[in-house]
Amino acid sequence: MNILQAPNAVFFIGLAVQFGIRHHFIRRTKSEKKTVQQVDLIEKMLLAAVLPAALLLPPLYCFTPLLSFADYELASSIRWAGAVIMMASLWLFLRSHLDLGRNWSVSLELRRDHQLVSHGAYRWVRHPMYTSIWLWGLAQGMMLANWFAGWAVLPAFAAMYFIRTPREERMMCGEFGDGYREYAQRTGRLFPRLRKPADQDVDPNA
Ligand code: SAH
Repeated sequence: MNILQAPNAVFFIGLAVQFGIRHHFIRRTKSEKKTVQQVDLIEKMLLAAVLPAALLLPPLYCFTPLLSFADYELASSIRWAGAVIMMASLWLFLRSHLDLGRNWSVSLELRRDHQLVSHGAYRWVRHPMYTSIWLWGLAQGMMLANWFAGWAVLPAFAAMYFIRTPREERMMCGEFGDGYREYAQRTGRLFPRLRKPADQDVDPNA
């Protein structure tokens, strides 16, 4: 069984930690009322693409022979480098949940008395949680030696990222107006800005 390979076992420990962080914050924010909810069909379809790639294919690969036709050889140095990237992803995943606190939600939503968070990881980057998920997708591909279980999450999350991020930024602009536009000018989307932006660089309404 593939789960007996050490990088696969480590991947599952990481998956359990990621799941634990999510579960904790879902419970912690449950009582915070929502004032805006943009959970439409597009949003549901995006989630429906990401969740099986992230949660269903890895156990199928590790615990059953169903995906063995897509197994391939992967150097153990690459697999352990993937484990390092996974740890960076988990750290950023936790950091961004802690920074957002009661303002976090799993989907496109705003809570009563929603605050614009611009401290911690959000001081430099507008979407550190999405950065952590990109890193996770890369780590999954590097750790699981199977074309489907390893690499399906990246295209699924790419669709979610490229469709959801402009919608999320429009929603935040609608709520916080110039406050968010100024914040967007100071920060990078996924990585910190290396240079001072010119005024026309950021247009979250685009
Ligand atoms: N895109 C962010 C947050 C993902 S969670 C990231 O990748 O880190 C999605 C929810 O977080 C959104 O629905 C919105 O309600 C909230 N959110 C996103 N950015 C925020 C910010 N800077 N301050 C407060 N809430 C924010």
